Amino acid sequence: MLDWSEYITEVERYQDDGNGYHNGYDKLEGDWALYYKIAQYFVHKVKREDRQDFLHDLMLEMAKVKTKYEAKGKLTPEELSLINRVREAYNKLIPIPCKGCRDCMPCPKGVAIPQILQIYNEMIMYNDLQGRQSQYNNLGFLKKEQHADQCAECGECMEACPQKISIPEWLKKAHELLKLNQ
Ligand code: SF4
Ligand code: SF4
Repeated sequence: MLDWSEYITEVERYQDDGNGYHNGYDKLEGDWALYYKIAQYFVHKVKREDRQDFLHDLMLEMAKVKTKYEAKGKLTPEELSLINRVREAYNKLIPIPCKGCRDCMPCPKGVAIPQILQIYNEMIMYNDLQGRQSQYNNLGFLKKEQHADQCAECGECMEACPQKISIPEWLKKAHELLKLNQ
């Protein structure tokens, strides 16, 4: 069964987590994280003031459809295979396989590793350099002390990362692309 309360609680729990994010959807896991990422593809099609509601409604619709078909057992092997292919294609769009687990945190230099990797991923996925540059350089969102150029390449984060991501390398790339010369 779809657990509405879990989703609602999770989102509210992250509303004010102090990490500089304007909403908590980026902290969702599993299918909810996937629904959020898919919903983001379409969010630009509605007015800014409606975007939060739109994201919420679309994610719930996707969850409802999945629950309905799981309950009825109506997905054919072909449909399941199609879903898997869509999922694989989607995953290929993501350059850094970060799951947002935060095992790499805290960084001794204060770098906001998961947030920066997410901004980088979204820049590639949505082909949105300008928007992600604004996000990265928005001090209300990410402080300068949390930027990728604070990385001292100590390697602690890589040891902790279950995805074995070359974090300092990606941070360098991210900063090069995302920083604004001010
Ligand atoms: S390698 Fe860089 S980002 Fe990773 S823990 Fe060390 S200073 Fe932080
Ligand atoms: S530990 Fe790895 S997968 Fe988890 S948030 Fe950090 S970089 Fe991402």
